[in-house]
Amino acid sequence: MKKISIIVPCYNEEESLPLFYEEITKVAKKMKKCVFEFILVNDGSRDKTLEIIRNYAKEDDRVRYISFSRNFGKEAAMFAGLEASTGDYTAIMDADLQDPPSLLIEMFDTLEEGEYDCIATRSTSRNGYSFLRKTFTGWFYKIIAKISKIEMVNGARDFRLMTRQMVNAILSMREYNRYSKGLFSFVGFNTKWIEFENQDRQVGTSKFNFFKLFSYAIEGIVGFSTAPLVFAALIGVIFCVIAFLLIVVIIVKTLIWGDTVGGWPSLVCIIFMVSGVQLFCIGIIGEYLAKTYLETKHRPIYIIKETEKDIEK
Ligand code: UDP
Ligand code: MG
Repeated sequence: MKKISIIVPCYNEEESLPLFYEEITKVAKKMKKCVFEFILVNDGSRDKTLEIIRNYAKEDDRVRYISFSRNFGKEAAMFAGLEASTGDYTAIMDADLQDPPSLLIEMFDTLEEGEYDCIATRSTSRNGYSFLRKTFTGWFYKIIAKISKIEMVNGARDFRLMTRQMVNAILSMREYNRYSKGLFSFVGFNTKWIEFENQDRQVGTSKFNFFKLFSYAIEGIVGFSTAPLVFAALIGVIFCVIAFLLIVVIIVKTLIWGDTVGGWPSLVCIIFMVSGVQLFCIGIIGEYLAKTYLETKHRPIYIIKETEKDIEK
């Protein structure tokens, strides 16, 4: 018998959870060769999510839960789940059924063959997400593919089934600024990709707004590439070369035609542009500095308020 841990980060998922629980238990029933452990991570939900989770834990021995003291984000929830998991194989799944539980059967069978350490999923489309989100996500993957040394698969989801060995490798990386898609790739191991058509969220709305996604993208870039720093330095060099050429032009012009006052509007424009570029580059450096600052504080990635051990069955 193999033990499978299913980790589900939940943030205000009172509508989705019952549907998810129904589906996952159906799939678990079909997988007769496995025993299950469902680790529901309540990421500081403000709705009835925790009550629902508590009820499941009371009724179903397979359900364990971790409830955070506040909203720490999906990355923290996934990490907490991975730390708590005890299965031979561990999967991470969204609560909104956008990661089809039925795929688990195929994923498990492939993993059992022994050739792979991880079966990961990617959605072939981004249908069901807004136009703006589709465009920006597309750009993000194009940029990060170019500037990062590790492989980032376009459309990769966090939904994957991993061996204990791989989970332990991920747990060994205790960085505070987490970008799991990069970490999964960083640890290596043999990964097989399964594709599926993106499903619409069944109920409720996405917990990621534009700002949250944008800072997540920055997290990915800063976490896995130092190219922006090189870019900042490069802009500096280019501007120095331009300035040098302009100096030569001005000296030559003055020697030939004498000193003519003029051109102050263009000067103002140049000052504005150069200082803009400088601030932009300082911003880039600041972003790396900020991440380093947060990292050196060694703050906990999440804080637990309650687990299944706190309820009397
Ligand atoms: N989630 C979380 N903490 C957050 C935001 C989201 O645990 O701060 C969970 C959420 O409950 C869901 C999963 O992460 O199970 C994916 O979220 P969502 O479906 O809203 O993201 P999207 O599909 O829009 O990328
Ligand atoms: Mg979703």
